Amino acid sequence: MMEPKRTRRCPICGKGPLVPSQRFCSERCATIDLGRWLSGDYAIPAEEEPPEDEGGGGQG
Ligand SMILES: [Zn+2]
Repeated sequence: MMEPKRTRRCPICGKGPLVPSQRFCSERCATIDLGRWLSGDYAIPAEEEPPEDEGGGGQG
């Protein structure tokens, strides 16, 4: 089975992948997103992703 990589893409233009600390590919997209927010186009941001727990896992 092939699982889709955990990559984040710009929710505005779909560019990616983005780094975990990046929410948008560019400030421009961030501004666009903000504009939508102010416009009330978005719903409540109930999308809280848990912190990635990337520990060196092994067998044993
Ligand atoms: Zn973008």
